[in-house]
Formats: sequence, C-alpha cells, structure tokens
Amino acid sequence: MRCPFCQFPDNRVLESRSAESGHSVRRRRECLRCGRRFTTYERIEFVPVVVLKRSGERESFDRSKLLQGIVTACEKTGIPHPQLETIVDEIEAELQQRSAREVSSNEIGELVLKHLQNLNEVAYIRFASVHRQFKGIRDFVETLDHLQSSGDPVSLDARQVDEIEQSQEVETPSMSHS
Ligand SMILES: [Zn+2]
Repeated sequence: MRCPFCQFPDNRVLESRSAESGHSVRRRRECLRCGRRFTTYERIEFVPVVVLKRSGERESFDRSKLLQGIVTACEKTGIPHPQLETIVDEIEAELQQRSAREVSSNEIGELVLKHLQNLNEVAYIRFASVHRQFKGIRDFVETLDHLQSSGDPVSLDARQVDEIEQSQEVETPSMSHS
C-alpha cells in the first residue's frame, strides 16, 4: 500500500480496529518516508458467483433457491430452520472464497450432501435422490452404502423408507435425463 502523499511503498500500522459492524478492518498507517498518516480499510471480497446448470445455462447463485431445495429435503425431519440457513451460509461462504467464479450445480449439490450427511440420514437420501437422479434401486443402495461406509449407521425404519419412496415418486416427473 503506497503512501498517498509521496508514493513510498512502506509504512507501519499504528492502529487496527474493526469497522462497519465487523465487516471490515480499519488501519491507521504512517508512511516510513514522509511520516504522514493515512487510513486503509480491508474487506472480504464479495463477488457474484455464477452457477452452470446441467442444461448448460448459466444463472447467478440464488441462495433462496438453494435453501428451498434443502428445506424440501428436510421436511418433517425436525431439523430447525436456522440450522438449514446455516448450511446455506456456509456453502455461500465457501463458494465466495474459491478462486473460480463459476460453479456447476452438480458441485453445489455435492456440498449440500456433505453437510446433510452429518445432519440427517433421511434428508441426505432425499436430497441425493433428486440431485444424483437415482435411476433405480441400485443407485439408491449405493447411496445407502456410502452412508454406511462414512461410519454413520443407517437405521431407516419402514416409515422412513416409505417417505423416501414417496418423495422419489413426486420428484421423478421433473427429472431430466442427461
Ligand atoms: Zn509518504
């Protein structure tokens, strides 16, 4: 950071403090050549993320859309809503900090699964069934195996399996085979 008065590149920081309700850091600096003081602000870079869809279309990342997908997968699982919003916050922050500005909808889906895997089996399987476009019982069993190998014992009762099958039936017509 060059001195705005003499362009000298080196300075020392006299004071650092949080500014803009914690969204930036304000630093008071002193030029090592001319001794004059100036202020800098440091912020987290926020840039729009573009999502590449399966269809090949691109659209801006939409957090309410992502949240809706997660809410649907978590219906009747008893997971409190703020916890679902936290998942979206974490995924958004993760996407923001990547160097690539574009992310595929597939990658986002895998990020959601990573979060749901530790949270709730039923939600995980429901989301996976839509996201991975289960084409039959084999895909379904493979996903169950994946859950088991992750060390999370799968203990679905008959009612849960029923719910999953029903949610699959509902989702099937909207699935596009790529
Ligand atoms: Zn200077």
